Amino acid sequence: MRICVVGAGVAGALLAWRLAAEHGVRVTLLTGAPRPDATAASGGLVRAFERDPETARLAASSLAELRASRTLRKWSAYRPGTSLYVLAPADGDGHDAVPDALPPTAERCDRRRLADEFGVQGLPEGAAGVLEPHAGHLSPDGLRRAAVIDLVARGAEVPSGRLRAVAFDGPEGGVTYRTATQEGTADVLVAATGAWTGRLLRSLGVIAGDTVRTKVIQCAVYRAGGPLPPAFVDETSGLYGRPAGPGRMLLGLPTERWGAEPGAARFLDHEERAVRAAAARRLPGLSLGRLMRPVAAVDAYGPAGRLTLAPVLGAPGRLFTFTGGSGGSAKLALAASREAASGLLAGLSCGTSRTGRAPITTITRRETS
Ligand SMILES: Cc1cc2nc3c(=O)[nH]c(=O)nc-3n(C[C@H](O)[C@H](O)[C@H](O)COP(=O)(O)OP(=O)(O)OC[C@H]3O[C@@H](n4cnc5c(N)ncnc54)[C@H](O)[C@@H]3O)c2cc1C
Repeated sequence: MRICVVGAGVAGALLAWRLAAEHGVRVTLLTGAPRPDATAASGGLVRAFERDPETARLAASSLAELRASRTLRKWSAYRPGTSLYVLAPADGDGHDAVPDALPPTAERCDRRRLADEFGVQGLPEGAAGVLEPHAGHLSPDGLRRAAVIDLVARGAEVPSGRLRAVAFDGPEGGVTYRTATQEGTADVLVAATGAWTGRLLRSLGVIAGDTVRTKVIQCAVYRAGGPLPPAFVDETSGLYGRPAGPGRMLLGLPTERWGAEPGAARFLDHEERAVRAAAARRLPGLSLGRLMRPVAAVDAYGPAGRLTLAPVLGAPGRLFTFTGGSGGSAKLALAASREAASGLLAGLSCGTSRTGRAPITTITRRETS
């Protein structure tokens, strides 16, 4: 069995690594040319709590594996820390929106505690938090680089070409793929090409099923004084952030820049001013100083709202996508790649994936980073 994974962001690198290291599959990872991708720009917040149950399951499983593995902690430069997730009030029923079932390590945190302990002010009535003492952040870029180095050491092919063309060899045959300088064959090809996925599938002339959209994510690292909050997401304002070293804070707000060209994006001053205004309202004890590092890059937003393996309907069983992280793949990539690798191989061994009917749940998820 030979599988070609296209794209060496955190999704593709980990999927290729799982297939080779855990299943002994002959893997080719086409890394494409070096260019600014979502993995390089990512803030790397990880936690177990998410609103959507399936996303939460993957997030918790990823965090558990990360915390249990010395190798993964080292590869990803994992920094343990607290995570605070502030939920917007539930609609009009008088209760807050904190679910009854929380991850085992998480606890409910009411508005008063959010204010007294973490300096979160001005929350609407009914807002409440989920506090996780064992969360933190990692470097998705470091994790994918280490996974690629390990893949090479295992003898996997890791050419730097960019996928240009594919051909399917008969109804039960494999896939022939081409870069500018190389041709290869595989039983299956997985496009883990992030925000480039829609464009790539169109250029290959295959019919894509559910489409992957693109959107800019903008955030920045600031000099910051006063008590720094832990890593947090505030649904009520959209503000998210985390400490980024002594006296520094990374902060951002979701943008509405849909349909953006993949890669690096323009850093917009008015979006940056909105971040300062939201931080002044929610975290008045935090004094934001000079902007140290602007960040703006494009991510892929899929119909499931999370990193998902999906068959491409125009070539079922031979062509898949593994993308759609919707601004949150870094925290899911470990578990999603583990499950995608075993799901892919199970489907291939019993032939079911050729039906192209692998389920894609259509839940929309709030972007929370
Ligand atoms: C600014 C920012 C902050 C973020 N913060 C967080 C966070 O705090 N927590 C969190 O969980 N998530 C966060 N995310 C989201 C997360 O980082 C992304 O969802 C994740 O990195 C996406 O990884 P990927 O591998 O799917 O895509 P990418 O990283 O975009 O990788 C796709 C790769 O495919 C390659 N490629 C494309 N076309 C071809 C081709 N034809 N041939 C070969 N290769 C090709 C590209 O060069 C690229 O390397 C953030 C994202 C951004 C942009």
